[in-house]
Amino acid sequence: MGSNARHISDNMGKPKVAVIGAGPCGIFSSGAIGDTADVTIFERASVMGGQWAFSEEKLVELDRQHSSMYTCLWVNGPIEAFELPNHKFPENSPSYIKRPAVYKYLQDYIDKFVKGTFKFNCKVQDVKFNAEENNFNLAWEEAGETKSEIFDYVIVATGHFSVPNDPKFKGEETFTGKYIHAHDYRDGKLYKDLRVLCIGGSYSAEDIALQCWKYGSKYAHITHRRTTPMGFKWPETVIERPILTDINGSTVTFKDGSTEEYDVIIKCTGYLHDFPFMSEELRLKTRNRMVPDDMFNQCQFIENPRVFYAGMQDQYFTMSMFQLQGFYMRDVIAGKIPIPSKEEMKKSLEAEFAEEATLDDEEKMIKFQGRYCDRLAELTGETKVSGQGDILCVWEHHKVDGITTYRDEQFKSHWTGRLGSKNEKRWIDDTDP
Ligand code: NAP
Repeated sequence: MGSNARHISDNMGKPKVAVIGAGPCGIFSSGAIGDTADVTIFERASVMGGQWAFSEEKLVELDRQHSSMYTCLWVNGPIEAFELPNHKFPENSPSYIKRPAVYKYLQDYIDKFVKGTFKFNCKVQDVKFNAEENNFNLAWEEAGETKSEIFDYVIVATGHFSVPNDPKFKGEETFTGKYIHAHDYRDGKLYKDLRVLCIGGSYSAEDIALQCWKYGSKYAHITHRRTTPMGFKWPETVIERPILTDINGSTVTFKDGSTEEYDVIIKCTGYLHDFPFMSEELRLKTRNRMVPDDMFNQCQFIENPRVFYAGMQDQYFTMSMFQLQGFYMRDVIAGKIPIPSKEEMKKSLEAEFAEEATLDDEEKMIKFQGRYCDRLAELTGETKVSGQGDILCVWEHHKVDGITTYRDEQFKSHWTGRLGSKNEKRWIDDTDP
């Protein structure tokens, strides 16, 4: 497939674009392309927000359990690291906010920028490419009926943190306590006085173990297969253990032969990139990595460059990167950015993989992702955001200095210089939703 400009002159109106998912990636892509394309946003829930759509009162996700959200979740990075250049947080925002404030930020963005049509309660079932027409047939389920429509481009924005990676551990069927995936963790209060084990060595294990500790669990241990400790000064009852080897009743055995008793095991083992609604030849298959497989510029599907996947990389930059990806999609769809040959795109991906292989610490990863964002900004003539990487590098140090206090720090907005206000309560004292 060569340049896409032909399509636009063939079409009397704007190109029709289907955006699948109304979480942050879907919202920012839609906002970015809304003047260029006729956008329809399909969302299986009844509200926008993706992960951020969650009912604190009901302690369940609004429609179904596709959100991995939990009550009293504070963002784990400062807002100044993801604030958009064209959409600022309110003047009085603290640097670390809770879920409802993020939700409001997304809603305000929609009100300001999104011109598409939202189709809520619509679950996309099947996306197929019509090679002769150079377009897509998209089928969805709505009120028990299957409907379909033709689109010129498809943006998959369903995220990659909602389908649990659920590895099996020896003896897990004998466990006598509560055994869940982080996806189903909802409320730290439920773990008061209990003995908790989190499996995994990343953000969810870190945050959920700390939540359990904050709400008064007897102890919250973290078992992982990292070769080095996570590098934080944990509170006394949060302890890192080697990876578990066996579960027997309530007893867990670890690789060093030690054992411990638990009431709860939470698998914080991450999530899968899962797109069952995309036909096989359009389906992205990748693990969670800095440079996702199969894509040009980390968001355009090489096998069919009319398909985009938004926000599929392991992320340091989030919302400001998602919007830049949207700008890139806008300019590809408008024919302003030509699509290279498949061979060229693959070569470019190989070069990115080679660079990814050299990233042996977090600061390098942050800088790498910043350069990627700036490349998108250069291609589209939009604002560069790599400066937000400096905030992320400081944030990393704050975490190392105080894993229970880093969320009380204040940053300056990269765009306005506004200093984040102080939260009324410190993170450690806050147990309100
Ligand atoms: P993740 O970063 O992908 O980490 C998954 C972890 O599971 C890794 O440590 C991995 O270990 C481990 N794992 C996978 N399979 C395993 C197995 N068979 N045995 C042992 N360990 C295994 O996923 P995540 O921690 O759920 O984080 C996902 C996203 O959610 C992140 O973007 C994070 O920022 C976000 N999050 C945000 C908040 C917040 O805002 N407060 C809280 C939690 C999460 P290996 O590295 O060894 O494979």
